[in-house]
Amino acid sequence: MSGFLSHMDRALSEARAAALRGEVPVGAVVVAPDGRVVAAEGNRTRELCDPTAHAEILALRAACAAAGSERLPGHDLYVTLEPCPMCAAAISFARVARLYYGAADPKSGGVAHGARVFSHPQCHHAPEVYDGIAEVEAGRLLRAFFAGRRE
Ligand SMILES: [Zn+2]
Repeated sequence: MSGFLSHMDRALSEARAAALRGEVPVGAVVVAPDGRVVAAEGNRTRELCDPTAHAEILALRAACAAAGSERLPGHDLYVTLEPCPMCAAAISFARVARLYYGAADPKSGGVAHGARVFSHPQCHHAPEVYDGIAEVEAGRLLRAFFAGRRE
């Protein structure tokens, strides 16, 4: 299996684990330049009572702690859903090299929709962006989660 699919599989398993905790099922993985997975996290906003505890933020914090740096040059971030504006800004601040995401998020996304953070003139670093990676499975997880909550 190619690297980007196996890393997205890991992000999807973090998303499934988040759903089991009652969190919106989004998972994120950070991969170091040498190919090691240095962080794998899922949403924990409810558990931590923290509106910023999105999978991407938690993964960036863990990866930065592992790197001993506030920046992650050469690192890749995989996330199952298009990042929101907050996470997109954090990805920019962290100088992440490449962003791979799954499902598009027309309602709350901030990369291809809404604020389009990386296209903004005030954005000083934009990662390379690859969308639609495993988007069918990522979208299915989210729809199943929200359908379950409406019952
Ligand atoms: Zn976010």
